[in-house]
Amino acid sequence: MTATASTPSEHFDAVIVGAGFAGMYMLHCLRKLGFSARVLEAGSDVGGTWYWNRYPGARCDIESLQYSYSFSEELDQEWEWTEKYAPQPEILAYANHVADRFDLRRDIRFDTRVTTLAFDEAAKRWNVETDTGERCSARFCIMAVGCLSAANHPRFEGFENYRGEVLHTGEWPHEPVDFSGKRVAIIGTGSSAIQSIPVIAGQAAALTVFQRTPNYAVPAWNAPLDPERVRAFKADYPGFRAKARSRPTGFYFPYNTRPALDSTPEERRRQYEESWARGGLPFLGAFGDLLFDKAANDTAAEFAREKIRERVDDAETAELLCPDNVFGCKRLCVDTGYYETYNRDHVRLVDVSERPIEGFTASGVVAHGVEYPADTVIFATGFAAMTGSFDRIRITGRNGLTLSEKWRAGPQNYLGLAVAGFPNFFTVTGPGSPSVLANMLPSIEQHVDWITDCMAHMRDIGAQTIDAQESHEADWVGHVADVASISLRSTCSSWYVGANIPGRPRVFMPYIGGFPVYVQKCNEVMAAGFEGFVLDARSPEPPRVRLTERWQTALDPDVLSPADIAAGRIPIV
Ligand SMILES: Cc1cc2nc3c(=O)[nH]c(=O)nc-3n(C[C@H](O)[C@H](O)[C@H](O)COP(=O)(O)OP(=O)(O)OC[C@H]3O[C@@H](n4cnc5c(N)ncnc54)[C@H](O)[C@@H]3O)c2cc1C
Repeated sequence: MTATASTPSEHFDAVIVGAGFAGMYMLHCLRKLGFSARVLEAGSDVGGTWYWNRYPGARCDIESLQYSYSFSEELDQEWEWTEKYAPQPEILAYANHVADRFDLRRDIRFDTRVTTLAFDEAAKRWNVETDTGERCSARFCIMAVGCLSAANHPRFEGFENYRGEVLHTGEWPHEPVDFSGKRVAIIGTGSSAIQSIPVIAGQAAALTVFQRTPNYAVPAWNAPLDPERVRAFKADYPGFRAKARSRPTGFYFPYNTRPALDSTPEERRRQYEESWARGGLPFLGAFGDLLFDKAANDTAAEFAREKIRERVDDAETAELLCPDNVFGCKRLCVDTGYYETYNRDHVRLVDVSERPIEGFTASGVVAHGVEYPADTVIFATGFAAMTGSFDRIRITGRNGLTLSEKWRAGPQNYLGLAVAGFPNFFTVTGPGSPSVLANMLPSIEQHVDWITDCMAHMRDIGAQTIDAQESHEADWVGHVADVASISLRSTCSSWYVGANIPGRPRVFMPYIGGFPVYVQKCNEVMAAGFEGFVLDARSPEPPRVRLTERWQTALDPDVLSPADIAAGRIPIV
């Protein structure tokens, strides 16, 4: 049969959408088990987040020795990270190294954006359409589209008249951008802005930052990696990985379970200073109740505000930079010289919290009736998080139901892995899984291993389809919401709840119950023969565990006692 516009020309066991860390590892696993797979990627190369986010200062904020794949001991041993928090080019080089080492590129189609996915009930296959006109079909469709991959472009009055250069941190050009002698405006003060502002300020003639909501940032204290620490990791990498997996955050750092309010003010200050000196996201591990008890959280928030006031010379600017919301409620930022940047004469902060940006002219940005001239405007406005890349594909499951209809009031997803009514459709780090609240590399690997084991089991028993049951999906969605409501994180307007995008339903999307608790649930579901799923063939044999074996990790009793869990005190970053 010759392929026509409406006939898929190629047929695979699986189509994987996205070639970031998730899509790359998914391809590797499926190949190893003899499945045919095709990866479709909108970008021109591998790396996902680290391919797109090339802005100055971009780096990870989980230390690289832990923010890396764990599936290959050889890879762990051979790769050399140079800094505590690797910069974007090094992480991208790592992704490229993985692609070469495991010969992944031959099954990836780059510059190919998936536009339509439709389940064909009769054939029990997914039909895939792309913006290049390429079509294919697959038994399984695996969404490795990323949680932070759909750049958010807010609309502004008169934007079309603006004649200067426009950049977005999440879609940064590949060629170096030179800001020398330029007047630069940045819109947004989230993580990407906090990373890039000090670097851009070092080049630009003038820098104007438009801030809607200030964010808390803890210093990274980034530095070249200590060779002793690297040696210690490499001497027992599997041991470190196992420790990380047993932590609620999926990465290891010293954690103090003691409640903040059980300590005297002096003890608290000592602990905060110690955690501050360690820096970064682990600051949230200063006390066990920071994300559960508002009064406890207030002590951390006030400490962080004091640090801002110490770092910023101008009292008025310092106050504008001081958040008044819950500490750690929005994604905590990790900075290198961010606050000190406002001490430079050519950097100014414009508060647009009460009166938003009015619009653009041909030569700049207007706020409070004043035009701020800019040769370059940088949108550091983040992403339509968690579901944004799904929204941009027309996805149709059983009975003509589209995913956007199903998710209109918020994402409905069983375990963050599957969607009822969308058979053989898996979501890597989908909404309802720990994803962005944990170290994403283990989150990705655990999902990919689970999906691979599931597909292998279906092959073992001759099943053609697997579909989540609506009742189990609803229970899981309810549980995700219940657990979120225990945490102070659910109280503010963050991208975790979709609040950065007008019109989105307010739903806390990631699973906040902690990585090991979640993994245990996934293990149980599999051990029970895929409880909560309908398979079109049943086997009396329990599923043969292949890859998920390594996720049978006990909870770390240092941070997670059963009593803590029962009391809803689950430490989370
Ligand atoms: C600046 C930044 C810093 C981060 N730092 C950390 C960190 O320190 N620690 C951490 O744990 N996490 C961090 N993250 C989260 C990061 O996204 C994940 O760690 C990880 O890289 C996600 O990998 P992924 O493969 O799931 O998704 P992505 O890397 O986002 O890859 C998804 C890919 O899917 C492609 N895609 C999407 N839609 C389509 C389509 N329709 N057709 C074809 N292709 C499509 C995209 O082009 C993209 O390449 C950071 C995110 C950002 C933006």
